[in-house]
Amino acid sequence: MDDELKIALLTEQWHVNRERGASLMFKKVLIANRGEVAVRITNTLQQMGIVAVAVHSQPDRWGLHVRRADEAYALEGESAADTYLRIDRIIDIAKSCGADAIHPGYGFLSENAEFAQACSDAGIVFIGPSPDVIRKMGDKMIAKTTLADAGVPVVPGYWDDGNADVATLEKQAERIGYPVLIKAAAGGGGKGMRVARDVKELRSGLDVARRESVSAFGDDRVFLEKYVASPRHVEFQIFGDSTGRTVHMFERECSIQRRHQKIIEESPSPALTPELRDEMATAAVRTAQAIGYEGAGTVEFILDESGAFYFLEVNTRLQVEHPITEMRLRLDLVRLQIEVAAGLPLPFEQVDLVPTGHAIECRVYAEDAARGFLPSVGTIRHFDAPVGANVRLDSGVQAGDEVTVYYDPMLAKLVVWGMSREEALSRMVWALRRFAVTGVTTNIAFMAKVIGDPAFVRGEYDTHFLDSFAVEDHESIPDEVLVASAMMARDAKKQVHGSQSAATAAASPWRDAGGWRGV
Ligand code: ADP
Repeated sequence: MDDELKIALLTEQWHVNRERGASLMFKKVLIANRGEVAVRITNTLQQMGIVAVAVHSQPDRWGLHVRRADEAYALEGESAADTYLRIDRIIDIAKSCGADAIHPGYGFLSENAEFAQACSDAGIVFIGPSPDVIRKMGDKMIAKTTLADAGVPVVPGYWDDGNADVATLEKQAERIGYPVLIKAAAGGGGKGMRVARDVKELRSGLDVARRESVSAFGDDRVFLEKYVASPRHVEFQIFGDSTGRTVHMFERECSIQRRHQKIIEESPSPALTPELRDEMATAAVRTAQAIGYEGAGTVEFILDESGAFYFLEVNTRLQVEHPITEMRLRLDLVRLQIEVAAGLPLPFEQVDLVPTGHAIECRVYAEDAARGFLPSVGTIRHFDAPVGANVRLDSGVQAGDEVTVYYDPMLAKLVVWGMSREEALSRMVWALRRFAVTGVTTNIAFMAKVIGDPAFVRGEYDTHFLDSFAVEDHESIPDEVLVASAMMARDAKKQVHGSQSAATAAASPWRDAGGWRGV
């Protein structure tokens, strides 16, 4: 085919796709979430010319996600159970405001098959995979069985219907070899998980894991897995569309965890060779194909010291750490989710996806590292975030906002990109040092310490890295910043006119304290 003809055909195809896209595309989307992810989704919806609808609890009525949305509706109540987890109320709001689709974000109802089904029953598109896929992948035992059958390596262990008696489980633990990990079939967020080093710990661990799982998930089924002593957590982003095309978007290394919760993520993983990356990517795509995956998902693996990897689970939603993938591939994963949910094909094939450079994400929590990571609540006085080339901040708060006890204390995600890991690391150190938050205590200084740790810099770490990490009192906001902030708070109170946020925005703790060089 000559070039001119090829160009003419491609141009025509582009116009057809554009028109089809415009006719299929949603006009209004409700975001069933709060905080940074709701703001993140709102941004993309508005860029696409789609009306972004927020829902909010009583404590969140002035929240950033509400202020940024085009429309906002109240979910009366305070607790998550009374608000962001209320399927009936959210569907009612979506119907009455005329939303075509619902984006669930992550957490809350994002992996709730019943919610996905309720959306579909109400004639509203759920931006995510089908209820059936969510249900199957939400049950760790069904997921393991499905993927083992598809030839994906899974952690050796014992799983049947989850209701085996203690004697059977004792026998199976002997066979697997101690230490073993007891896991809840319905588990998530590290809940219902217990390590057992001998039969005594197995017996007590089973009780605790079942109890924890019943209270968190209303399900007491548990199974056993070989406990991998020194694992790394490496996950692959997958994406599928309704035409059956499935791609992976490379890996994210998420081994820096506290109580099984990720805090710092990076991509690429310092632990993968090109061969191992290919092998794991193939397993991830096989996973997506085995379950007919549509939309954005994540296949999680653990990697042992010998380089053997095992499937852990599929997260059937947008992942918190998705920005590091976006930075390396220059993609907007939320936009792709919306397009795929609207029935459009993925606009690329696997060969088109060529990641560049290195990206790192730090999750900023309102918590006090020096006091056992106790959540910190209060009014944010200053929120002075770094700005610069290849620095991104996905935030759910601004100065003047209230951090309450009701929800997860993650405030924001700081993400940087560099040509190399070294460049990304030095950019992150700079960004953390330039990030001043006062009014609540954050883990920013703690993360700067982790990023600067020699073993972390060498890329030598596993999921236990933070277990032995020393937390010192002086690793907090320097006194001069606190003093400057207190003075400004006093001055702000004195102001008769003007809002508090205008008063606090007018001054910066950096300017008053002459910079923060304490970390
Ligand atoms: P959840 O769904 O509760 O988050 P996962 O199965 O995803 O549980 O595991 C969470 C974390 O627990 C992993 O990132 C890893 O650090 C640890 N983990 C899980 N399975 C094993 C295992 N078999 N051996 C050692 N560590 C494990």
